[in-house]
Formats: sequence, C-alpha cells, structure tokens
Amino acid sequence: MKIDLHTHSRVSDGTDTPEELVRSAYEQGLDVLGITDHDTTEGWEEAAETATDFGLTLVRGIEISTKLGRESVHLLAYLPDPTYPPLVEALERILDGRDDRVPKIVGALNGLGIDITVDAVKTMAGEAAATGRPHVADVLVANGVVANRDEAFSEYLSPGRPAYVERYAAGLEDTIGLVRDAGGVTVLAHPWGRHAAEGLDEAGIARLVEIGLTGIEVDHQDHAPEVRDELRDIAGNLGIVVTGSSDYHGLGKTNHDLACNTTDPDEYARLVEAASQAAEASGRNVPGVLA
Ligand code: AMP
Ligand code: ZN
Ligand code: FE
Ligand code: FE
Repeated sequence: MKIDLHTHSRVSDGTDTPEELVRSAYEQGLDVLGITDHDTTEGWEEAAETATDFGLTLVRGIEISTKLGRESVHLLAYLPDPTYPPLVEALERILDGRDDRVPKIVGALNGLGIDITVDAVKTMAGEAAATGRPHVADVLVANGVVANRDEAFSEYLSPGRPAYVERYAAGLEDTIGLVRDAGGVTVLAHPWGRHAAEGLDEAGIARLVEIGLTGIEVDHQDHAPEVRDELRDIAGNLGIVVTGSSDYHGLGKTNHDLACNTTDPDEYARLVEAASQAAEASGRNVPGVLA
C-alpha cells in the first residue's frame, strides 16, 4: 500500500488542478492520497470526483497556518466537517490575512526597485483560494527577476529577507481543539523542518497531545535522517501516529515528487481510527475517507 498524506493543488500553491493531482497520484501507483491545500477545502470536491473515477482512496485534509507564540507552525487537519462554522470562520480569517499581505509584499518589492503589481500576482494565483508567496515568486520568475521559486524565497520572501511580510495565523492549540470539535484529527506538518518552532520539543509536543494532537509528520524532505530518527523516537515515547508524505506542489517545489515519502499502512490505520473516534465524539457530519 502506497500512502501519501500531504499534497497541494492549484487551489493553494501547487501547480496541478485537483483533478490533475489525483490523476498523477493514480499514475504514480498511490493507493491513498491526502489532499491538503493551505487553509482551504476548496479542492475537495473536484478531487473527490476524480478519485471516485480512478478508484483511488482520498483523505480530505487542510494544511492550516497556525502560530505557537510568534512562530509559524503548519498543522495538517484530516477529515473534519468542512461546514463546521468555527472552522469556516478560522479559515476565512487566515485567507483574508493572505490576501491582505499581497499588496504589502508588492509594496516592499517596489521599494527595492522591482517592477511588480498586485494584479500580476492575482493573475498568477488565478483560481487559487489561498494566495501565497509562491505566487509572488512565480511573477518574479516570469519577469526575469529570479530564476526560480527557491531564489525568490532566499533573496526576497523568506523571513529576514527584504520583502518578507508576516500574516495572520490561528493559534496552534486553539486550532487543534477546533479541528477535534469539527470531528477531525490533527498532525504536525514537518515539525522540525526549516521553520522549526522552539516550542516543539518533546515536552511541547506532549502538551499538544494532551489537548488532542494525533500525530506528527516524520518522513518529510525538510527532515534529515537524524531528525527523522529523533522524531520517530519521540512519537514512540508519546504513543502518537507517525506519518510520511511528499508535500508535493507539482512543479512548484523541486525534490517533493509524489510518494517520495510515504506513510506506513499501520500508522494510516491508526490515524483513520482516531478520526472515526473524533467524528463520533463530535457528532459532526464528517466527510470520512473516500474509498
Ligand atoms: P506562504 O503560504 O505564503 O506563507 O508561503 C509558504 C509556502 O511557500 C509554503 O507552502 C512552502 O511550500 C512554500 N515555500 C517556502 N519556501 C520555499 C522555497 N524556498 N521554494 C519554494 N517554495 C517555498
Ligand atoms: Zn505550499
Ligand atoms: Fe508546510
Ligand atoms: Fe505543505
């Protein structure tokens, strides 16, 4: 069984439509695909229709932008009721923060003498519900300012670089509770990746488990082998689920091909079991795994 639980489509900052994403997953020989666009469930329906056509199992998720203290943490939420009003409101607020940031980034770039407009970024983002720095990066590439997304981040868009602008993110702990109340489960995305928050040591993760965290993403391209070993030990100590995923973004991120990391079937079964328990406890009408 080949299981990849963290991927992006054009509904956020990937380059495949949800249909193309599911098709690529099928062609890659995946059995289970998680679609986890940033801060939106807008790709779920198209992905579900395509998954049904191909007989692929689909786990509908969201990668939610949260903060622990001042630090950014990406939280994977699986199988929540997407109509749960507090979740809808939380995502709307984050998406608004994304939209508000675009003119500020553009302003900062203009201040550096770089010719770029908000309209160009909006056109690049197209139908995306979640606008992001990658769309700004794509305009910089199209305008010949940088060679690729990576260079746009390292020169201009990453924290500490001259066109970096913060945006609103929801509180991590509140969001873990919110997703539970929506009948879903949560997994920390790349917890020790390039933006590793200080609060996410073993004690910090243990506290999150107490309030309902189900697992951590261990096998991820941003984690070196020693990091994966250490995180796997922590997961073992805490008895939580371990996932592995590609964080595929289509052509938007190199070295993140579909299924470059995968989730162990037993761990996947534990995740799904935790989700059914959360669903039952919440009384919400959750989407469930589409098999
Ligand atoms: P944002 O969502 O606007 O805060 O931008 C963060 C997104 O940009 C994440 O989804 C990352 O996958 C992507 N990203 C971050 N750094 C890079 C990079 N160096 N190259 C390409 N994509 C990146
Ligand atoms: Zn992304
Ligand atoms: Fe992420
Ligand atoms: Fe991601």
